[in-house]
Amino acid sequence: MQNNVFECINITNVINKLELKKTNQIGNNIFVYCPFCQSKKEKNGYMKINMQNNCYICDNCEASGTSIELYAKLKYMTNKEAFTQLLREIPVLDNMPYVYNNPIKNELYRDIVYNSFLDMQTLRDEHMEKLQKIGLSKDYIQKHNFKSIETREKQKKEICLKMQEQGLKLDGIPGFMQDKDFKWTYKSHKGIFIPVFLDNKIQGLRILLDKEYRNDTKNIWFSSNNAYNGTKANNFITILKNENFSWADMYNSNHKTSIIIATEMILAHKLFFSTNKIVIGIPNNVDKDIIISLINRMKVTEVFLYHDIYSIKHTSVRIYKNVMETLENLGIKVHFRIITNYFEENVKHREIQTKVA
Ligand SMILES: [Zn+2]
Repeated sequence: MQNNVFECINITNVINKLELKKTNQIGNNIFVYCPFCQSKKEKNGYMKINMQNNCYICDNCEASGTSIELYAKLKYMTNKEAFTQLLREIPVLDNMPYVYNNPIKNELYRDIVYNSFLDMQTLRDEHMEKLQKIGLSKDYIQKHNFKSIETREKQKKEICLKMQEQGLKLDGIPGFMQDKDFKWTYKSHKGIFIPVFLDNKIQGLRILLDKEYRNDTKNIWFSSNNAYNGTKANNFITILKNENFSWADMYNSNHKTSIIIATEMILAHKLFFSTNKIVIGIPNNVDKDIIISLINRMKVTEVFLYHDIYSIKHTSVRIYKNVMETLENLGIKVHFRIITNYFEENVKHREIQTKVA
């Protein structure tokens, strides 16, 4: 940590604070008017701000350096003074010129950060009870690391600080962001974190909310898009299967294989626990291409498409029809199911008309 202390000040903070005008953004690079060689009347910004490497370079006058150096040069101070000042001062947040979304870090790094993060959260009794009522066992809940979300501001910052002390960086991790005092924190909602695993790595965190959000959903992503130094979550998917299950066996066997596709994570867990089939969880999405590409990699003969009441609400009949017809054309038998309430006891659910009108 000591070696890259200058990296503690994200360069996007510095350009916000200096109010450098953004002209363009390509990938991880933001272009601004170069404060050393350029007037704002010129058309293009020559200075390239690399958000990943936390440095700047001007294609015209060749000025370059780190985030701290940029601030120090423009404010005529030493790097040390610049660093101290940037840490102490509240950035210009009230009229912040721009909000940036960080590029997302890869799944290996996200897995490390989210594991450390979940270790610092606890699962409260009322949430344990709720998950058990949904139909999961205590062992299953603990094994999958479901946790209650800490929502108190002070505690949230303490958790983030502990993670930083472990050497973890929180930029590029969906859910995390910086507060006005430069301290890292995260977007919190009252509810339960559902880690979304793929190949035993946590891709992201889904949130099962305590209260329905605007009659519209009970589930959202842990995401911090458009927050200060925040990162947007993708629509991650999960594949739940037995540990001793091998894809090769499945692909080479002549057995009929039926799988479940669930359009919500908590639903995917409920169904996996009660059926022990392979369950693919694709939150709020019935994306035909994702489904087909997953199914093509397995030797699937039958698909159960499970929806909760919210995904039904948000998906048009045309999309259902399209998915179903495509699967049937591949010789796959499709069953539609709706779960109206996560607490429903068994898996015999009301069937939607197979021919969606
Ligand atoms: Zn320049």
